[in-house]
Amino acid sequence: MDTDPSIPLAPSLHPAAVYRIPDLDTLDAIYSGAVPGFIYARDGHPNAAELNAAVVAMEGAAWGTVTGSGMAALSAGLLGLLSAGDRVLASDKLYGRTTKLLKHEFARLGVTTTFVDVNDLDAVQQELSSGSYRVLMAETISNPLCRVADLPDLAAVAHAYGCRLFVDNTFATPLLCRPLDLGADLVMESLTKVIGGHSDLTLGWVGGNDPELTERVTGGVPTWGLAADPFDCWLALRGLPTLELRATTAHRNALAVADWLADRSEVSRVIYPGRPDHPDHALAARQFPTGFGTMLCFELADRDAVNRFLRAAGDAIPFAPSLGHATTTCSHPDTTSHRFEPAEAKRVAGITPGLVRLSVGCENRAKTLKGLAAGLDGV
Ligand SMILES: *Cc1c(COP(=O)(O)O)cnc(C)c1O
Repeated sequence: MDTDPSIPLAPSLHPAAVYRIPDLDTLDAIYSGAVPGFIYARDGHPNAAELNAAVVAMEGAAWGTVTGSGMAALSAGLLGLLSAGDRVLASDKLYGRTTKLLKHEFARLGVTTTFVDVNDLDAVQQELSSGSYRVLMAETISNPLCRVADLPDLAAVAHAYGCRLFVDNTFATPLLCRPLDLGADLVMESLTKVIGGHSDLTLGWVGGNDPELTERVTGGVPTWGLAADPFDCWLALRGLPTLELRATTAHRNALAVADWLADRSEVSRVIYPGRPDHPDHALAARQFPTGFGTMLCFELADRDAVNRFLRAAGDAIPFAPSLGHATTTCSHPDTTSHRFEPAEAKRVAGITPGLVRLSVGCENRAKTLKGLAAGLDGV
């Protein structure tokens, strides 16, 4: 036989948009699932399948699908769960685009959304009891103030009213929290962030355990055109072996950075679930046994102070309005993620012009602190 016994150690990239099938019987067998195989990349390809299998395992899911972005994963989940006339009860602290998706896009399709403080279980229960909601939508850790949602409580109250719990786990990642284990019906990740980890790909994932939802969610992905690019999947696969190393180091760094910042005179407030002064510290300690995440915020006097901090920190702590990069970056919620929200609402929520959000990375901690010190010395 001329079979080559050597197998590439690194994942192979399969950019093909279409696959050659030897005959009709094989085509039928692939369609029926009797033999493995791919036909058309929008319906599935080896790189998405390999990445999906890895994320399914990390989440403890029975099924899932990789999508072209985190927003595509949210769209796939919501399009699968909802029909015209349905109602959504959503956290009032969702990622801005998710709020926009519900408020503007789904509203046009006849789906109405009510927003609620998911940290107020009584308010959630009261709202659920007052109307027939199809979906309760929450984030495990919110942006930017890192409020933690009590997922077992939310799942219990949602299920008591016949409602599904859909969780955006992007800030937590499955290393910190597996929402499906805690009662969520559907979970999504923006793989663009911590899981991708290198700011060089745009992908999402959505999955669950309930077989009733499998076809409704995954079947819509090729039809709505939400499929993932093979090269991005290949990049994500390349990063996965170091995910746990990156994330656990970043969790430790974040806790140390938060405590270090709290001692600086330029900083009036530090927001991190790992600190006892965070409103959800006890819940976070219970729900996230392995750490408190990579995201934290600190507050400077005003916008001018933030400008001076960014200029003085320079390359050491890049101002880059995303998160989950392998090394530490910072963002400014008031002018980026929450830019178009009314100023009054932002101030009430605690998003001030002096608030800086850090996405802590896994680089040498002394280097991070040196960069932050340079920034703060410039304030
Ligand atoms: C970035 C992000 C998304 C959207 O993911 P994309 O990959 O950018 O489409 C959704 N939810 C949260 C919490 C995010 O941070």
